[in-house]
Amino acid sequence: MTRCDSCGQGGAVLVSRPGSPEHLCGACESRAQIEERAAADLRAQLAHVLRAWAARWSADLTPASVSAARDTALRGEADQFTA
Ligand SMILES: [Zn+2]
Repeated sequence: MTRCDSCGQGGAVLVSRPGSPEHLCGACESRAQIEERAAADLRAQLAHVLRAWAARWSADLTPASVSAARDTALRGEADQFTA
């Protein structure tokens, strides 16, 4: 019996997900699908804000520095909601 890559329960099936395929049980597959929808929703909500922010700072920073500042800021903000 194939074990779930996420929780270890038996009866997992191979699921093709962005990145790499995984063996997931039904509960973990449902959770993963909800996480993917939540991530897509967040990306959609942030897209216009991030474009405007990047346009503002690209005059003063290289593209790599803009990306580094963005990643640092988003990581710090995300940490406040996951602690
Ligand atoms: Zn599982």
